[in-house]
This record gives sequence, C-alpha cells and structure tokens, in this order.
Amino acid sequence: MATLQEILAGRLEERRSAALYRQRRTLHSPQQPRVNVEGKSLLSFCSNDYLGLANHPAVIGSFKQALDEFGAGSGASHLVSGHSLPHHALEAELAAFTGRSRALVFSSGYMANVGILTALLGKQDQVFEDRLNHASLLDGGLFSGARFKRYPHLDSRSLAAQLGKHSNEDGLRCIVTDGVFSMDGDVAPLPQLLAVAAQHNAVLMLDDAHGFGCLGSTGGGLAQAVAETGITVNEHNLPILVGTFGKAFGTAGAFVAGSDELIESLIQFCRPYIYTTALPPAVAAATRTSLALIQQEHWRREHLQHLIQRFRTGCLQLGYSLTDSHTPIQGLLLGEAGVALAASRALEAAGLLVTAIRPPTVPAGTARLRITFSATHTETDVDLLLDALATLSTVAAAGEQA
Ligand code: PMP
Repeated sequence: MATLQEILAGRLEERRSAALYRQRRTLHSPQQPRVNVEGKSLLSFCSNDYLGLANHPAVIGSFKQALDEFGAGSGASHLVSGHSLPHHALEAELAAFTGRSRALVFSSGYMANVGILTALLGKQDQVFEDRLNHASLLDGGLFSGARFKRYPHLDSRSLAAQLGKHSNEDGLRCIVTDGVFSMDGDVAPLPQLLAVAAQHNAVLMLDDAHGFGCLGSTGGGLAQAVAETGITVNEHNLPILVGTFGKAFGTAGAFVAGSDELIESLIQFCRPYIYTTALPPAVAAATRTSLALIQQEHWRREHLQHLIQRFRTGCLQLGYSLTDSHTPIQGLLLGEAGVALAASRALEAAGLLVTAIRPPTVPAGTARLRITFSATHTETDVDLLLDALATLSTVAAAGEQA
C-alpha cells in the first residue's frame, strides 16, 4: 500500500512531465510595472492592477490612517463584531456607484461567487454558465447542487436553446457569466444575455471582476458601458452584480450589489459571508479611496486604451495570434503548454515578466502568454515588450527552419 507521500509524489511528477507544474515567484517590491522578483529587476506584464492603484500614495495613505484609527485586524466575522465603519461606508458608496439599492462586501471574490450561488440555488434550480467562466463561478454552480449546464463561450443563441429545452416550472434558473473573461479579455454579450434572461424568466448574474475600473465612462464596468449605449441595465434585469477589489481597485476583497432582498438573504444564508473574519477595516478604507480615484481619474482608462491599441497593432504585425480583446487582458495564443512556458522563460531572460497560462486554467491546446497592461505602463514599456516578442518570433522561425 503506497503512502500518502508516495501517491502525492507520483501526482506531482505527472504534472511536471506535462509542463503543467506551477511555481510561485516572490516579489521583493510593490506591485508596479518594474518589479523586483527574487532580486532580479523585471518589467512586469502580469498583474491585475489595471489602473495602477495598488501602490498609489492616496490609497496607501488611507490604509495607514485607518490602521491608526481601527487597528490591523477586524477581530471577528461581520455578524459577530467585525463589521466596522469603513466596511459600512464602502458598501453605501458601492451601491451608489453601481446604481443598486445595496452592496455587500466579501473577503474575496472566490468566496463571494461560491457563497452567492450556493446560498441562492439548490437541487430544484438550474444554473447555466459560459464554459469559460472563472473557476469560482463554475465551482459555485457545481457546489450549489443545481442542475448545471455550460453553454459555448459567448454563445447566447445556444444558451437560449438550452433554456428552451430544459424548462423548470418549480425552481430558479440562473444565467452566470464573467463580464470581461479573465484569461481571454473578451467581453460577455450583455445585451443579448439580458434579452435571453427576460425571455426565459431567468436570473442573470454578472461577475465583472475585470471590467470594473476599466470599462464605462466612470469605471462602472460592463453594465455601465452597455447602459451608455441606451440599453436599460438595472437591478431588475441584472439582479446580481459582482466585482472584486484585487484588480483595478488595487486592494483585496469583493462585493455584490443588488436589491435589499438579495443582500439581506446573503447576510442570512451565505455561509462564506457568515463564517469568515471580515476584511481588515483598513482594506475597506483604502478601497474607498480607490473607488473615488476610479471615478475621477479618467486619464487612467484613456491611457490604458492607448497602450492596448499600440500593443495590438505591433503584436499583430509580428504575426502573433491574439484573443479578441480590447481590454487590458491580452492573450497571446501559443497552443501547447511547453511552448508557452518556453516563451515565458525567454521573455524573462530578456528582462520581462509575463506568465504562461496553461491547462487546466485554459482549455487544452490554448496555452498562452497572458499579457496585462496597467495605466502606469508607458509607451516605452510596450515597445520593449514588442521588441522582445519580435526576437522571440525570429528565434521560433529560425527553429522551424532548422
Ligand atoms: N472572478 C473573476 C472573474 C476572477 O478573475 C477572479 C480572480 N482572479 C475572481 C472572481 C476571484 O476574486 P478574488 O481574487 O478576490 O478571490
């Protein structure tokens, strides 16, 4: 009989030989374009700090001030005694920002998604998910025990067909989608999803973790961007709206915005909300400052768009395939896991930090470099990346000829 250690060693070896082994890198500096990774200075294109707020002096200042006022830890879960003034004020500001009745702050996006889906859905219900949804949404749908269906990526027609085929008189039907897809950077067809949900009496849940801050005229995300084209988007036709603070907000945690009934139900029934320590109040205070900056500093979104266009033009000229994205997440598709890993290593040798994303995070055969931009990158940074990618493509072409 093999020991636990032997069984685990076998599994790890399997992963290594499939070029799927993952390793953590240790940052010795703040999150910013030029990072220190284990003593090495690298130009980074792999953080989700899209607006450059993680190391912003005003955000740090609010954090420090709240540390003095509220201490380091929240000390308890929200329902015991961990819910403090900064959490409460942040929730009110998020409700106003999203145009919803209320908002609820969670300790992480993973917990928010799993918690919402398991609190709202059970055996008698159905959940329909885009097949490229974030793991937390897929896990939440599976853990809920609801009848679980995936529809082809972005395909609202197939979704409508599935809803038509599997009627459910007795339970809830929930459609769940990322706003901006985390590994491709493409955007959910929200107008079509709103129409399908209305037609089939389904509840729509949008996780816009990567859209908040980046899309919409004041960073209100995909829902705001779509509303700005004249389409009605509100808490009635989009009742569950999720965002996270670990991306454009530059801090940590997450929120859901919606009706009073939704938020009260989560406070009563959502186990990952109830049974965990509240975020440190200082994180909530810092996030309030991020929220103000997101709404006020339009130049961050404008500069990002400029960098994204410059990158896409240059990269397509080099002959690479990119995902269909106009967001800060750009997927440079390479196919096999080993190829993506070799490309990431070659870029690192040239002084650039770009992560290879491999299965199971993305489907087999679609391993890629996930390149992300921040408003604190410069045009020169983008050009350095393009130069390195040009060298990489020359090396690859020479390799093919040899
Ligand atoms: N939703 C999406 C779409 C994500 O990409 C992520 C994390 N990258 C999460 C939720 C989880 O958020 P958190 O990191 O706060 O757990």
